[in-house]
Amino acid sequence: SLGLMKGKRGVILGVANNRSIAFGIAKALAAQGAEIAFTYQGDALRKRVEPLAAELGAFVCGHCDVGDPATIDACFKALEEKWGKLDFLVHAIGFSDKDELTGRYVDTTEANFNKTMNISVYSFTAVAQRAEKLMTDGGSMLTLTYYGAEKVMPNYNVMGVAKAALEASVKYLAVDLGPKNIRVNAISAGPIKTLAASGIGDFRYILKWNEYNAPLRRTVTIEEVGDVGLYLLSDLSRSVTGEVHHADSGYHVVGMKAVDAPDI
Ligand code: NAD
Repeated sequence: SLGLMKGKRGVILGVANNRSIAFGIAKALAAQGAEIAFTYQGDALRKRVEPLAAELGAFVCGHCDVGDPATIDACFKALEEKWGKLDFLVHAIGFSDKDELTGRYVDTTEANFNKTMNISVYSFTAVAQRAEKLMTDGGSMLTLTYYGAEKVMPNYNVMGVAKAALEASVKYLAVDLGPKNIRVNAISAGPIKTLAASGIGDFRYILKWNEYNAPLRRTVTIEEVGDVGLYLLSDLSRSVTGEVHHADSGYHVVGMKAVDAPDI
């Protein structure tokens, strides 16, 4: 280990299980000496998150449902009491009703549109507000996005609209927080089979399509996304803010199906 995160303390929101992108990032950070705190969403996930926290020597700061501001405040209070300050924050949270992650975008309901935007977009700003107060020596904030923000992907629908707004909010937050030496970036990850992804229609097809057509001819792992997260959360990227960094085997540069790609 190069000890790239030695002396740095931060909170990671969005671990559901050992396949979560948030956990891939946590492993990469812990291996470089970071001190980590996890939140969990509800009692069902608490049972999964606690052993993962123990594995990495992480602090569990409690239940955080980003739809309920009081629970966000309680977690940040616990962090303030534990550490007094923060160096990094990872937001790996997204939600939409799975009935709308299939079919046509045009059929999106107002209620699910609003909920998707609140949980998947506003929540990053909500946690950034709290984290800013604790990042007294500067810091780095990171969120997770997807190519469906840039181009229309089948079934991604309202989540694509939400990710576009999330990517715009990364830029606005980067400008607001830059003078305090707080950096704000996103990773646009290629498709990975996680709990959240299983809600997206035809997800296996999307995985195969990426495997056959991405320049590297493979999908990405949570460990690979974790290493990109390490770069964005460590001082290696100290000159980088407002960036959406693709970790997708290069898929985002491709304009057409590969000639050697099998039919699927
Ligand atoms: P995951 O299911 O492991 O993680 C999603 C997390 O969101 C869970 O921990 C869940 O508890 C949390 N969450 C949902 N609603 C919440 C709420 N109201 N309050 C607090 N937490 C809430 O899946 P993942 O794929 O690791 O997702 C992490 C992030 O990565 C998401 O933003 C997702 O959109 C993004 N992403 C995923 C992929 C992929 O293919 N898996 C690709 C690009 C981006």
